[in-house]
Amino acid sequence: MAVVKANAYGHGAIETTTALIRQGVSRVAVVSVEEGLTLRHAGINAPIVILGPLFREHIADVLAHQLTPVVSDLSVLSPLAQAAAALPTPYPIHLKVETGMGRLGITIGELSELLEAHNFPASLHLEGLMTHLADTDGETIDFTEQQLVQFNLAIDRAKRAGFRIPLIHAANSGGAVRFPHAQFSLVRPGIMLYGYHTLPSSVSVPDLKPVLSLQTCIAQLRTISAGHTVSYNGTFTATRPTRIAILPLGYADGLSRHLSNRGQVLIHGQRAPIAGLVCMDMIMVDVTHISGARIGDEVILIGRQGQEQITADDIAEWTDTIPYEVLCLIGPRVPRRYQSS
Ligand SMILES: *Cc1c(COP(=O)(O)O)cnc(C)c1O
Repeated sequence: MAVVKANAYGHGAIETTTALIRQGVSRVAVVSVEEGLTLRHAGINAPIVILGPLFREHIADVLAHQLTPVVSDLSVLSPLAQAAAALPTPYPIHLKVETGMGRLGITIGELSELLEAHNFPASLHLEGLMTHLADTDGETIDFTEQQLVQFNLAIDRAKRAGFRIPLIHAANSGGAVRFPHAQFSLVRPGIMLYGYHTLPSSVSVPDLKPVLSLQTCIAQLRTISAGHTVSYNGTFTATRPTRIAILPLGYADGLSRHLSNRGQVLIHGQRAPIAGLVCMDMIMVDVTHISGARIGDEVILIGRQGQEQITADDIAEWTDTIPYEVLCLIGPRVPRRYQSS
């Protein structure tokens, strides 16, 4: 079950999902009902699991568009069951149990009570049982192992209550790679589909290739003399005659303001440092050492150019975050272009 939430981690939900299905992926997951509807409206017919919280207001849309809800709080179960009672066959749902993430999910006690006392609604089909692992990329394996013990207990309770659940799932990318016994009947990789991971270096990781590159071009060039400043609030002051390139991409496009006077880009295969504050729509970079730079020249923010490479990991390091955030912050204004490899 490929995770394509958050616009497929910034890559474009519809195109990414279409490509994954072409590659043989049979089921996808998003977080919100709106994300699920976007895929349905684009003509994607594969099963779509809605990982996020289910609200009563969404039940009609979920059923009308055959989205598979994850029930993580029992308060929504009876309105869902009531709505599903009008359908000819039991409606598939997944139940989420909380095993240590401290986030959405029912307790194992609630699960037992629901399943054992024949309280499970006849209009619903328990297609899936899931949990979410909190520390698959942690330094040690202990917390994940504890969660898996709890999850296996939940599976056992369901079995003993007479339920045969076809889809049992727990593992995100890190879990799928590092904990083979967490694979169950399906895994939910997100970040690794896009070529990144956050596992510690002690874990052996498949050969991953970043899927996305982020590029722009030079919009203007100007040489400023020593003492002149660049961008808002004059946080960059030239100490010598300095050639500045202006690039039409800013924090509204997902470039963190924390990159101000800190990040780098690639031009003509060389690194050019960001000069001054990142603006909403533009950044400036110092290209004094890149004498061939011209208006229209390609600029790489994420990707390769010549011998140099900048990855989402590099940007994450410069901005004190993780590659997940760098990728999914790439804004809707950035045109996505797709090419098959
Ligand atoms: C986002 C998410 C995933 C995918 O996690 P990755 O670390 O990107 O592989 C899996 N399961 C749930 C419930 C999620 O919210």
